[in-house]
Amino acid sequence: MIRIPALFIGHGSPMNALETNPITLGWRALGVVLPKPVAVLCISAHWLTRGLAVTAMPNPRTIHDFGGFPQVLFDVQYRAPGSPALATRVRELLTPLPVAMDAEWGLDHGAWSVLVHLLPDADVPVVQFSLDATQPASFHYAIGQKLAVLRDEGVLILGSGNVVHNLRRLQWQGAAAYDWALRFEGFVRHAIETRDHAALIDWKSQGADAALAVPTPEHYWPLLPVLGAQMPDEQAAILLDGIEMASISLLSLKVG
Ligand code: ZN
Repeated sequence: MIRIPALFIGHGSPMNALETNPITLGWRALGVVLPKPVAVLCISAHWLTRGLAVTAMPNPRTIHDFGGFPQVLFDVQYRAPGSPALATRVRELLTPLPVAMDAEWGLDHGAWSVLVHLLPDADVPVVQFSLDATQPASFHYAIGQKLAVLRDEGVLILGSGNVVHNLRRLQWQGAAAYDWALRFEGFVRHAIETRDHAALIDWKSQGADAALAVPTPEHYWPLLPVLGAQMPDEQAAILLDGIEMASISLLSLKVG
């Protein structure tokens, strides 16, 4: 079986689910050239848990986990099936770490706002895997190392977050990016391109820039398991980047 690339997507605003713009066109183009996976394992910034959990229901619901957006966004449904078999496989690969088989969550907008473009036919099963919010960055990276073998089993590992994500500093659409946002995104890009994963795990060493770019870690964390799934002989390519609304990075990358 062909090895499937691993992706990290900077998802930005939930409205990207409905919009046609350079970023969503990029996601669509990526979906066209990507080998078709047998399933998707999505690690979204929007599912934080205490301990690990994986969605194990056969038909995950579409979760509209936001407020203040138009009704048309609440009407979006992404009807991909789940995969209890993949959930079981994830738990097996992470043994002896406990992984809860979840029947409550579903697909949050970190997953579906991207998947409606990447896999618009919703015919590939999707499983979400949570971020254990009690764990450090090195843990999230190590999870990716343990799950990397899934790529050889036809699974697309999809991280969805934003490497720069500061909602308190948002500006109007079209405003110039903050210097600290550009610097931090540049640091991330350089570390990805030089395979300096240790620097990315230790992002806090970027000091004041890091504190502004990553005021809370949940949107940054999904980058780490994707890089953990990078094989020794593989490159990582930046597919898209740029800062939206002055303080959100849309950097996306492909491993393999
Ligand atoms: Zn988000």
